[in-house]
Amino acid sequence: MLPAGVRMFFRDEYDVIVVGAGPAGSTAARYAAMHGADVLLIEKRQEIGSPVRCGEGVSMEIFRHVDIKPDPSWFVNQVTGARIFGPSGKHLLIDAKNAGDEVGAVIERDAFDKHLATLAARAGAEISTKTSVTALLRDDGAISGVTVRRMGEYHDIRSKLVIGADGFESQVARWAGINTNLKTRDTTSNLQYRMTGLDLDRRFTDFYIGSVAPGGYVWIFPKSDHVANVGIGLLLSRIRGPSEAKDYLDAFIERDSRFRNADILETVSGGVSVSAPLDSVVADGVMLVGDAARMIDPLTGGGISNGVIAGSVCGRVAAEAVAAGDVSSEYLQRYEEGWRGLLEEKLYRDYMAKEKLITLDDETLDKLIDALSSVPMENLSTKEILTAVRMKYPELVAEFEDLI
Ligand SMILES: Cc1cc2nc3c(=O)[nH]c(=O)nc-3n(C[C@H](O)[C@H](O)[C@H](O)COP(=O)(O)OP(=O)(O)OC[C@H]3O[C@@H](n4cnc5c(N)ncnc54)[C@H](O)[C@@H]3O)c2cc1C
Repeated sequence: MLPAGVRMFFRDEYDVIVVGAGPAGSTAARYAAMHGADVLLIEKRQEIGSPVRCGEGVSMEIFRHVDIKPDPSWFVNQVTGARIFGPSGKHLLIDAKNAGDEVGAVIERDAFDKHLATLAARAGAEISTKTSVTALLRDDGAISGVTVRRMGEYHDIRSKLVIGADGFESQVARWAGINTNLKTRDTTSNLQYRMTGLDLDRRFTDFYIGSVAPGGYVWIFPKSDHVANVGIGLLLSRIRGPSEAKDYLDAFIERDSRFRNADILETVSGGVSVSAPLDSVVADGVMLVGDAARMIDPLTGGGISNGVIAGSVCGRVAAEAVAAGDVSSEYLQRYEEGWRGLLEEKLYRDYMAKEKLITLDDETLDKLIDALSSVPMENLSTKEILTAVRMKYPELVAEFEDLI
């Protein structure tokens, strides 16, 4: 028996069902509800945001596009810069003054995800946790809701629209017939330790590139001077199997004196897409958002900000489609135009950058970092970068002209 005033887990019918209460799904649910839709947000885990499978680094961009205010319960360390270390140990500092929103903060992801779900609930969305979507419902071929399993029982819940925000391993995409397949060269295998007992400078997030992490990088995202997420992402096409991530990460930690007295509090792993944007993230009656829609930045592997930004557009258009009585893929092109207008150019640019960077050997990466570190950050324009590379390493200019 539920306490008086507390809702049952779900009703039989809604305007919009959102599958997955990660950052993208909760934001889509929030914006759909804010724009007048009757929304159910479904999460298979028993606790939203937990367990955390994330480095917890976000760019400040998120706060410019979406109405979220940093809250001390989850906004734990705003950094002043990112340091990109080349194989020789020389680094390039990208600071907030010059790189603006690109430099960010380290958050508590479980509290952050709960915060976003709370905003969705405040906007009027209903939430059902410990509830797995197991199939899409169809009436004469048209998607008309979902089947869920809760406490061992199956229920059909009808809706006009389904939003697939079910993450990297999205099943909604597959059920809806949207091709989200990834090549191994567009997928990274990630392993991360949450570590304590470190000796860090919390003002910086650190990235290590080159043969230390084939096709990817090692990251250190500090939560304080002593606690950090220390992880590695490796391109699947560059390794024999996901288990190699541990060998590379342990070897990195072994060599670095800041880890001498460190202990591991938690280990997490998972896949991340580093692909170009999909051709389509909608079908009749279905929209995809966040990792399910392969919206992760292919250069950084970060997906929180893009998922939240696209989620706000997704939710708004979902509500408008329901109000217009038209959930066809033609109508949903408004969502495609909206999210692509905000994110697509950077996703393509960063995809090209990633494709180039994975071809460079350690020596070339060192030269690049050396050349760039001599450019005053406020002058970091395309012209200045090319000039700096030309002056120090003329033989590299042809290599980078197309990238830059
Ligand atoms: C090791 C690692 C480190 C990372 N570090 C960073 C980082 O530092 N910064 C960053 O920006 N990004 C990082 N990422 C990527 C980031 O975690 C994702 O981009 C982000 O979580 C995407 O949000 P989302 O809402 O699209 O999906 P998710 O956060 O994956 O949420 C999907 C939700 O859907 C639920 N779900 C799935 N299937 C069903 C179903 N059938 N029924 C009901 N619910 C379902 C899941 O339980 C989950 O809660 C990292 C990823 C990994 C693996």
